[in-house]
Amino acid sequence: MYMSLEYILGKSLEGRELEEEEVLFLLEQKEKVTLDRIFETARKLRERYFGTKVFLYSFVYFSTYCKNNCSFCYFRNSNDMPPRYRKSVDEIVSTAMKMKAAGIHLIDLTMGEDPYFIDHPERLTEIVRRVKEETKLPIMISPGVLADEVIDELIRAGADWYALYQETHNRVLFGKLRAGQDYQARLHAKEYAKKQGMLVEEGLLTGVGNQLAEYVKSFEYMKRLGASQVRTMTFIPQKGSPMGECEQGSFLSELLNIAVMRLIFPKLLIPASLDVDGLRGLEERLNAGANVITSIIPPKEGYAGVANAVYDIDEGHRTIEGIQESIHKCGLRSATAEEYENWLQSRQNETRRLPA
Ligand code: SF4
Repeated sequence: MYMSLEYILGKSLEGRELEEEEVLFLLEQKEKVTLDRIFETARKLRERYFGTKVFLYSFVYFSTYCKNNCSFCYFRNSNDMPPRYRKSVDEIVSTAMKMKAAGIHLIDLTMGEDPYFIDHPERLTEIVRRVKEETKLPIMISPGVLADEVIDELIRAGADWYALYQETHNRVLFGKLRAGQDYQARLHAKEYAKKQGMLVEEGLLTGVGNQLAEYVKSFEYMKRLGASQVRTMTFIPQKGSPMGECEQGSFLSELLNIAVMRLIFPKLLIPASLDVDGLRGLEERLNAGANVITSIIPPKEGYAGVANAVYDIDEGHRTIEGIQESIHKCGLRSATAEEYENWLQSRQNETRRLPA
């Protein structure tokens, strides 16, 4: 197949689907001048569907306990280094209210697969119900793999989004990264949530042994799933984990993935996470086509990040005020709560019409 960068970029701008080989061709690019053209096209597509709006997500990591032992994760069960805590419902609600007052658009309630909640899902439901009642904000849950009936309960309690990252769609690599966990059960949980009307976020991790062709497979799965938010994140070696001495993933690879995802999924939400390296890199991620800033964390309240447990948190850099300068430098602006609600409702209507 004949490959021309300008032909492929032109196809994206015309709203035509890219072939697998074309996506792979984009991912293989290394020259600065070529990468700049891809980033520029990604920004054009973002502007077409989102204007200058950027959405802001808070990150409330309310339990850092986990029964699993993912080889890339700082909070894996067998690591005794991370801070372990479990926040009370009142603490979580109070944090969520502060984040709402600061102008956040969505509360992301995240936990490890903590048996305290997994074995007693009513405790999780209670958190979602209280946060929804008090804040009236959209809620994303990131609790790991859940049973179908628990997903049903969480929807009834007010959860709008389910985030569950496969990290790779290569089963062998999955087995190494998430040892002892069921690849299919993880897929089933997000597919079930989607079928029940939730919006779903899928994600992949770069720098953990994925080949470029496997990123293409991940993008295809995201499309089949009907994901509404798609994220790519750079692997950071974590102390006390089996991958602690591995080389850090390439930032450029993350940026290129963001841009290529924007070409493939122009209307979807693509995060620029503050969790990888705090404020550093935020502008590059936005300039690659991201349109949601995730992992905004209230300072000095004892919450941790995931990839970076403490970096930039208590200094207040991962706050709404802390990110404003970067947003403006990129020619963007924080959306209003109403603009996010409008996007959410129209996407919910659209995905309910998509085949599950
Ligand atoms: S990635 Fe999630 S499921 Fe895996 S060990 Fe870390 S907290 Fe647990």
